[in-house]
Amino acid sequence: MEYHDSEKAKEVAGRVEAFMDEVVIPREREALATGEKITNEEIEEFWEMAKERDLFAPQMPEKYGGQGLAFRDMLPSFEQVGRSLIGALSIRANAPQEGNMHTLELVGTEEQKEEWLRPLVQGEISSAFSMTEPLQGGGSDPKMLKTTAVKDGDEWVINGHKWWTSDGMDADFLLVMARTDMDAHPYEGTSIILVPTETDGVNIVRNIDHLGGHTITERTGGHAEIKYENVRVPVENTVGPEGGGFKVAQMRLGGGRLTHCMRYSGMAERSLDIAKAYINEREAFGSTLSDKQALRHEIADAEMRLHAARTMVRHAARELDQSEARIEVAMAKVYTAQVTNDIMDLAVQCCGGNGIGKDLPIAYFYESVRPFRIVDGADEVHRRSIARYAFEEVKEEELEHLLRFDEELITEPAVADDD
Ligand SMILES: Cc1cc2nc3c(=O)[nH]c(=O)nc-3n(C[C@H](O)[C@H](O)[C@H](O)COP(=O)(O)OP(=O)(O)OC[C@H]3O[C@@H](n4cnc5c(N)ncnc54)[C@H](O)[C@@H]3O)c2cc1C
Repeated sequence: MEYHDSEKAKEVAGRVEAFMDEVVIPREREALATGEKITNEEIEEFWEMAKERDLFAPQMPEKYGGQGLAFRDMLPSFEQVGRSLIGALSIRANAPQEGNMHTLELVGTEEQKEEWLRPLVQGEISSAFSMTEPLQGGGSDPKMLKTTAVKDGDEWVINGHKWWTSDGMDADFLLVMARTDMDAHPYEGTSIILVPTETDGVNIVRNIDHLGGHTITERTGGHAEIKYENVRVPVENTVGPEGGGFKVAQMRLGGGRLTHCMRYSGMAERSLDIAKAYINEREAFGSTLSDKQALRHEIADAEMRLHAARTMVRHAARELDQSEARIEVAMAKVYTAQVTNDIMDLAVQCCGGNGIGKDLPIAYFYESVRPFRIVDGADEVHRRSIARYAFEEVKEEELEHLLRFDEELITEPAVADDD
């Protein structure tokens, strides 16, 4: 399918595709077949290869060692890395690192960029974004955030409880969302504060075991529950404007939602590739499964819907270059999350026992895609925003000539029947 991405976007995505096909996917297949985990040293070797092939960290400016692509131009590369379980990691375009890099690059001070962003891009250190809290703290409704940061001289003192902090188990620093002005509305009174993990009072409680949590690599980033107990950091660790945490998070999430969409679209494409290969070879009831019209129609629907999702993401990305594009991003996110979930499910179904077993990557894909309907805003939360937009301008004139009950015919109020 031709999407008329820019020449630069196609050229880099072409190099990423070749890297996936020649190096990364063969290693992934081998790891699945042998059960041997891909080591951290191997991942660092991938990074070196990615640098040699000019495709390392496509989301970052060249001065930090990335490819300096505009947002829209990097998306096709994200689609390519999504085809492998280790694709995004292999070129350092994996969540949440990519989103955290993006945040620091957008609003970090020059000092923060030198101290934290530069080594982060190079993979010398790791990071995590710590926003979600256990109930009744901030979750789908981030206004419910309870973690606080109070100024004491030139320091923030942070107290709070977070969980689902992705890569929080081995992060060197945490971007913590905390209420910094309790008198203001949360949207104006919340800030993002950079907390080095080794700071006193940062208590990494546990890794949260979860659906899709089994990896084929040795990496231990996990998803952390973290308690912040009188954690003191300098006020200059504020990332972006004080009180502007939600705006910054929105900037981070807007782009992050689309890069997630593209990674999962790539994953859906590979699931379909595997399913098609399987049903093309597998015979049952006198012909190959790919001859059965029931399956052919399902594959056709999947191809159509995947194409629609990719088109929506590209449209949202184009709008995001001009504006906040909240509705376009919300629509693309909900739709892509649903379509990719459905496609992974279809791929599992097509492959029968091989879909459930883990010799092929699709069982991993299936587990990995389910959280996508919840992370970065659950479907219902985005639908809420889309519905608000949909009801912004109700065209009452459309009902102008509709027959209505003639109230003047009623002279006395109807008496209620005692029965
Ligand atoms: C794998 C994974 C990685 C994550 N990584 C991070 C991370 O790095 N950093 C971080 O801060 N957080 C992270 N999260 C947390 C994630 O952002 C939250 O789980 C998500 O925002 C939902 O919040 P909640 O879990 O508190 O769900 P709740 O707020 O308890 O909502 C539960 C469900 O209610 C429904 N719902 C919510 N609102 C409405 C509504 N208005 N109408 C109808 N239904 C509604 C939705 O279906 C939702 O799934 C991660 C979560 C997962 C699973």
